Amino acid sequence: MADIIDGRRRADELLDRVTDETARLSAAGTTPGLAVVLVGEDPASQVYVASKSKKAKACGFHSVQHTLDADTSEADLLALIEALNADAAIHGILVQLPLPGHIDSGRVTQAVAPDKDVDGFHFVNVGKLATGETKTAFVPCTPAGSMLLLEGVRGADLSGLNAVVIGRSNIVGKPMASLLLAANATVTIAHSRTRELAAVARTADILVAAVGRPQMVARDWVKPGATVIDVGINRIAAPEKGPGKTRLVGDVAFDEVKDVAGAITPVPGGVGPMTIAMLMANTLTSAARAAGREPPAL
Ligand code: NAD
Repeated sequence: MADIIDGRRRADELLDRVTDETARLSAAGTTPGLAVVLVGEDPASQVYVASKSKKAKACGFHSVQHTLDADTSEADLLALIEALNADAAIHGILVQLPLPGHIDSGRVTQAVAPDKDVDGFHFVNVGKLATGETKTAFVPCTPAGSMLLLEGVRGADLSGLNAVVIGRSNIVGKPMASLLLAANATVTIAHSRTRELAAVARTADILVAAVGRPQMVARDWVKPGATVIDVGINRIAAPEKGPGKTRLVGDVAFDEVKDVAGAITPVPGGVGPMTIAMLMANTLTSAARAAGREPPAL
């Protein structure tokens, strides 16, 4: 039976550190400021944005939420981002994705000042991560949080270990692979065009699933003793809970894989809570940099 990696506990520890360090920085005259921008009324996005704003307040941040109508023009959204870029009280800007179809998400993402890009999506931060400048980059929150969970199991140096990342998105798969490489793992990125995916996955000492297909990774995909990080969040029908009910599952068939893996993240309660905690950590880091201070080690 695998160790179940407790993402909630690790996220709470990180948030406690962020809260302490925020109090210290605020006392020295700089309160971290996070602006969250939501366009439209997507229910899942509304939930994410509300919980990010709430966590920011709980950490002691100056927390601002901008909720814009679904028909807001791209020009108006870009003007808001320009204003936030210029606002000295704001150290992190997060634009909740997806944006409505008439807005070019790429243009909006690249409009955020790189030094306030706490999501790590700006080309400057992507380039820094890809070239190993992890000290000054903002690293996307989900892979950064996944690495902290992995570090708790395997330590910071992954020399000699094979890592397989399933999924090649810019938000999760690719940055995760960069971080694993920076930690000295031997990294394979698998995706929808990979042949013999199960056999590739079985080579992994560290298996990261970031696909969005419920319970795809089966028991026989996993090398005995492997560390399995399940990034996927999928809602499936749960008739056992009653008619019309649903539940969240990952990309890994948890119930069977837990018997073969060495350690595994659950869904929910694994990577998910780390994502939001890393957003707070990145905002604190940004505020410390803006104040000319060394960002606290978290
Ligand atoms: P995405 O759709 O952008 O990318 C999915 C990737 O999976 C693609 O690169 C694709 O090549 C690959 N893929 C698709 N079908 C495949 C198949 N059959 N076999 C192998 N690879 C396949 O998704 P994303 O934004 O990277 O998110 C992935 C999952 O992670 C989703 O379930 C999402 O909800 C979840 N997610 C969770 C968090 C969190 O906080 N825990 C954050 C971001 C995303």
